[in-house]
Amino acid sequence: MKQKLIAGNWKMNGGLAANKALLHELQQGLAHALDSKHAQVAMCVPAVYLSQVQQLVMGSGINLGAQDVSMHEHGAYTGETSASMLKDFAVRYVIVGHSERRQNHGETDVQVALKAQRALSAGMTPIVCVGETLSEHESGHTEDVVKRQLAAVIHANGHCISEIVVAYEPVWAIGTGKNATPNQAQEVHAVLRAQLKAATSQAERVHILYGGSMNAANAAELLSQPDIDGGLIGGASLKSADFLCIIAAAAR
Ligand code: PEP
Repeated sequence: MKQKLIAGNWKMNGGLAANKALLHELQQGLAHALDSKHAQVAMCVPAVYLSQVQQLVMGSGINLGAQDVSMHEHGAYTGETSASMLKDFAVRYVIVGHSERRQNHGETDVQVALKAQRALSAGMTPIVCVGETLSEHESGHTEDVVKRQLAAVIHANGHCISEIVVAYEPVWAIGTGKNATPNQAQEVHAVLRAQLKAATSQAERVHILYGGSMNAANAAELLSQPDIDGGLIGGASLKSADFLCIIAAAAR
């Protein structure tokens, strides 16, 4: 059975002192209470803290992640961070296509696919976010939307597609406290798995994470679904006790 992957997304939160305290608590919890070997753990942090967090997590089993990457290799792109720059800080995972970037920065499916390509070419694992808005959900378009978003990434990445992580994050569940039910999430994950299967014989290897108000109370049931291979955790990744509970649920 593949290990589950629990990835935190701090979004635009944190500070030098707060990061140090949170990671210290997490490392203590991982060392003393949990068998972390049964779950992979990553933390996707703001770009300015990559250097600090790289030092703090060294040797701890917590993998370093970033929250975005440029679709360009280098050049006149003020404010952007390239894949090779992330690599300089031993970044292992990079979130691409988070709904907050699609919504607030107008990122398109094609741009997200190019970002995934950049990450893969640099030897990092893109965590490709897909998910429908509330109105798409209510009008019955969930499947069309997530398939369209994933299709762009499959098209651009061909035979490397088994190297990605997919995160199903219904937009209406992000930061709202209203998670998809385990059945709702499993249904969409099964659709995504079938789409991956049509593209690669290695589809079972691909981690498909659920994200959207996952917390200490609902994690175990969500993670018990057959196609839910882990979680992408926003708010609860900022609280060590909650994040440790989710990791424990994944390690069962
Ligand atoms: C996220 O931002 O990816 C996310 C899932 O957030 P939250 O867990 O806070 O809903």
